[in-house]
Amino acid sequence: MERIKLLKVHYLPKELEEGFLYVSKEFGVAGHLCPCGCKNKIITPLDLAEWSFKEVNNKPTLYPSIGNWQLPCKSHYWIIDGKIVWSYQWSEEQIKEGGEAEEEKRKSYYYNLENKYNKQSLFKRFIKFVFGK
Ligand SMILES: [Zn+2]
Repeated sequence: MERIKLLKVHYLPKELEEGFLYVSKEFGVAGHLCPCGCKNKIITPLDLAEWSFKEVNNKPTLYPSIGNWQLPCKSHYWIIDGKIVWSYQWSEEQIKEGGEAEEEKRKSYYYNLENKYNKQSLFKRFIKFVFGK
């Protein structure tokens, strides 16, 4: 499985390096090179309507998936927990049908992660409640 490392920056550099997800929280944007190897620059705005960004132990997660339909490679993948998780390609109907199940699986994986985090924070709140701090 391919990995992508988190690199926090103020400005996105002009030249991106493969295998890094550059994140500028100040400007609410992330950038990386398409992991298929085509070296196209993928810019993902980070806001409620676009992508949400999360990091755990310095491993980035972007939600939802990244579909580069506009590129010749038409790559489609998720960045989950610092890993590139390939998804189906949109263009072919057959793949699409199988893909949707796959998409659901990824989604529930993501939501499970989400739940895990929420539970952790609930637990922290519980501790706070019980012990006062
Ligand atoms: Zn590509």
